[in-house]
Amino acid sequence: MSSPALSSLSARFAVRFGTDPALRVRAPGRVNLIGEHVDYVGGLVLPVAIDRAVHAVAAPNGAGLLRLVSEAPGVAAVEVPVDALGPRAGAEHWLNYVLGVLAQYRDRGWKVPGLDILFAGDLPLGAGLSSSAALETATALLLEGLSGRGLDPIGRARLCQQAEHGHAGVPCGLMDQLAVGAGRAGHALLIDCRDLRVTPVPLPPDWSIVVADTRVKHALADGEYRRRREDCEAAARALGVSTLRDASPELLATNAARLDERLVRRARHVVTEIARVPAFVAAAAAGDAGAAGELLRASHLSLRDDFEVSCPELDALAEAAWRAGAELGVIGARMTGGGFGGATITLVRRGQEAELARHLEVDFAGRFGHTPLVFVTRAAGAAEILPPDHPAK
Ligand code: ADP
Ligand code: MG
Repeated sequence: MSSPALSSLSARFAVRFGTDPALRVRAPGRVNLIGEHVDYVGGLVLPVAIDRAVHAVAAPNGAGLLRLVSEAPGVAAVEVPVDALGPRAGAEHWLNYVLGVLAQYRDRGWKVPGLDILFAGDLPLGAGLSSSAALETATALLLEGLSGRGLDPIGRARLCQQAEHGHAGVPCGLMDQLAVGAGRAGHALLIDCRDLRVTPVPLPPDWSIVVADTRVKHALADGEYRRRREDCEAAARALGVSTLRDASPELLATNAARLDERLVRRARHVVTEIARVPAFVAAAAAGDAGAAGELLRASHLSLRDDFEVSCPELDALAEAAWRAGAELGVIGARMTGGGFGGATITLVRRGQEAELARHLEVDFAGRFGHTPLVFVTRAAGAAEILPPDHPAK
C-alpha cells in the first residue's frame, strides 16, 4: 500500500460512509532482528515495531452491520451482519483477521455493535512484516476504544493470536501480536516466549534498519510453516523435553545419532537460534557491530540450511548485503519473518541507507527481473488509539 495523504483518512471515511469517524487507531508492523521460528517453542525473540502501520478509522452505524473497507490493493469491500462472524474463504479471506478478532471479543461476552471501518496504511501485505497482526490489533483497539474498556497488551495479543489460529487457520506464535502491541520507539523487544516477559532493548542510535521486501511469497509458505512446527514438536518428543526451549546443545549432541537427520537439523536451528538472541542483545548493548553482524549471518544460514525456510530471493538479498560489507556501512543482514519469500533486514550505519538500498535494488533486479521494495525504517511505538483527526505520523 502506498500512503496517499493518510492525514485525510477521516475525510475519506466521511466520503465513503457519509459520517465522521468516532475513532482512529494505528497498529505498526514489525521486523524481527533475531530469534526466528522460535516463538512457538517458547524461545527468545527480538522484534522491533516499525514506523509503517495499519491505520483504521471507525464509527458505530446502528444498522447491525459490519461495513468493512480496506484501501489495500485488490481488497474488496464487504458488508457482513454482526451476527455472522464465521470464517470466510476466497476473496473474503482478509476478513478473517477482522471477524476473527470480533468473534473472540464476542465469545468473551463483549457486545459487537454494527460498525463502519476503513483500513489504510503503508505496511506491505504478506511481506513478513506482520500486516496480519497489525490488522488484528487495529480491529481489537477499535472495538476496545468504542466500548470504553480495554484488555492489557498480553491479553489482547493472545486474543488476536487465537483469532489468527481459529479464523485464518494460521498456527502462528505470539511474537507478532506482542511486538505490535508492546513496541517502543528506539527499542527492540526482548521477548521470552515461555513466560511472555518483555524487556525493551535500546538500539545503538547509529544502527539503521533497511527492509528489503522480495515481493514474492511462495505458495508452500503456509503448509511448510505448519510442518516446521510439527518437526519441532517431534524433535522435542524424541529428546524427552516438553518443548525445544528446554533442549540444550549437549542434549541434542548426545541424542543426535538416534534422531531422524531432518529433526536434528530442525532442533539445531532452534537451539542455536535461541542462544544467538542474548548474544545479539549483548552485542547491541556494547555497540559491537562485528559480533552483531556475525550473529545475523549465522541466523540466516541456519534458517537456510537447517530449518530450510529461505528461498533464492531472500538468499540473494542477504548475500548482496554481506558482499557490500563495511564499504556500504553494512553491519549485518538476514531474512526476517516466516520465510519462503517476504523480506530481509539489513542493519546499516546511519547515513549509508540510501546507498545500500540502491545496491540491493540493482543487484536483485539483475537476477530476478523485478525490483524489491526497499525502505528505511525505525523502531516505533506500540499500537494505539488516536483522535479521529490525528495526522498520519
Ligand atoms: P504478513 O502478516 O507477513 O503481512 P500474512 O500472510 O500473515 O503476511 O498476512 C497478510 C494478509 O493479511 C493479507 O493477505 C490480507 O488478507 C490481510 N491484511 C493485512 N493487512 C491488511 C489490510 N490493510 N487490508 C486488508 N487485508 C489486510
Ligand atoms: Mg502474518
